[in-house]
Amino acid sequence: MDILQQEPIAALATAPGIGAIAVIRVSGQRAIEITNRLFRGKDLTKQDSHTVHFGTIRDYENTIIDEVLLTIFRSPASFTKEDVVEISCHGSEYVIRQILRLLLQEGVRMAQPGEFTQRAFLNGQFDLVQAEAVADLIAADSEATHRAALTQLRGGFSRQLKALRQQLIEFAALLELELDFGEEDVEFAQRDDLRKLVAAIQRTLRPLIDSFSVGNAIKNGVATVIAGKPNAGKSTLLNALLNEEKAIVSDIPGTTRDVIEDELFIDGIRFRLIDTAGIREATDAIEAIGVERTRQQLDKAAIIIYLFDVSDTTPAEIAEVEAELLQRNVPYLLVANKMDKLTSNELVHWQLQFGKELVPIQANTGRNLDEMTQRLTAFVKNRAVPGSTVVTNLRHYEHLMQTDAALLRVLDGLDAGTTQDWLAIDLRDALRHLGELTGEITTDDLLATIFSKFCIGK
Ligand code: GDP
Repeated sequence: MDILQQEPIAALATAPGIGAIAVIRVSGQRAIEITNRLFRGKDLTKQDSHTVHFGTIRDYENTIIDEVLLTIFRSPASFTKEDVVEISCHGSEYVIRQILRLLLQEGVRMAQPGEFTQRAFLNGQFDLVQAEAVADLIAADSEATHRAALTQLRGGFSRQLKALRQQLIEFAALLELELDFGEEDVEFAQRDDLRKLVAAIQRTLRPLIDSFSVGNAIKNGVATVIAGKPNAGKSTLLNALLNEEKAIVSDIPGTTRDVIEDELFIDGIRFRLIDTAGIREATDAIEAIGVERTRQQLDKAAIIIYLFDVSDTTPAEIAEVEAELLQRNVPYLLVANKMDKLTSNELVHWQLQFGKELVPIQANTGRNLDEMTQRLTAFVKNRAVPGSTVVTNLRHYEHLMQTDAALLRVLDGLDAGTTQDWLAIDLRDALRHLGELTGEITTDDLLATIFSKFCIGK
């Protein structure tokens, strides 16, 4: 495919600030010739794609700005599919500014946020779902978000949806043809085949739609509430969980990251502890179930940990708590704290009555905490099939829902024997949402919204 190269753009591709090295990316028409004018070293215009060259960047007085490594990518074998030069220079703000200034003087313009990715999209490097995955991948701050973004970047669900959409387009065309024949009673579009195709598309859509709750949890954190009476050990548990995290963080040399106290990463999954800040000072922050404020917090929970002092609670009380938890339809764990105060016989008794929803722990020593955290992550993982695509993006979710709704109307129409024109309307609706999802149908507004969320240089 011949790529129509646009005006050259440049931006810092690495994070701003001081670093050992920085990378400035130049893309577009004459990107290689322009960079070559500022470069002393080999003649870049004569070099192959995917080669790296050492030399200096100089200003108009021939003063050396920096020693650099230039990587050349020739169209279409680059990220944007245009000619691209990546300038690796030293990560000083002065050097970066000088190099960018020289590029601008040569007629290059500063890139808009997301413009490199937008060009890549427009040149067919990937579809919209994948382009958005690039943004997600850059923003990924946990193993789980990283995995979700990477799956989407590598094709994800859009390829499958595109193929199904193509088939649906053929049906829509046949239906329109029937419309052209007006009064005559012709049927080009086999209704049974259409029904089968719609069912096949729904089979693809439904798991994606269902995956959104997990996807959303992965991206934004799993809303977790630790509830329990005063003295149950909530703050002790929280400290134990957060200390584990701190230990992990301080193991990484040079990290100065502050531990965010109400966020926990367990096994690559982010758990967002809802309003647990108060636990530290006050015991009334999250009291027993039954307190109005606790109810409000429980309403926001995706997972509930009910913690109780097992030496000071009867099974009958917990049975009552469990009955209320069951009504909420949210996964919960009954965590029996202070297991050190029980005999093993008593423990077995509890476990027999409550089964696997009950986890005994000893918060003040961390005993059996692993078991508890494993149960927590299992709630999330069990709902996401390993290796499957997880929808994390609200825009995708909404189009998937709307496609599904339109397809349901098509099926209803088929059942009721509606006329072609109504069927055609619903089909077109489904096609439009599928098309907007994968970016086969785009508007400037949509593109502007999506790509403006990127940072400059991406
Ligand atoms: P909160 O009011 O729910 O936040 O409870 P705290 O975390 O303040 O704990 C109440 C008391 O129980 C403190 O004296 C803790 O040291 C103690 N405690 C917490 N966990 C355990 C445990 O596993 N075993 C024992 N024996 N004591 C515990």
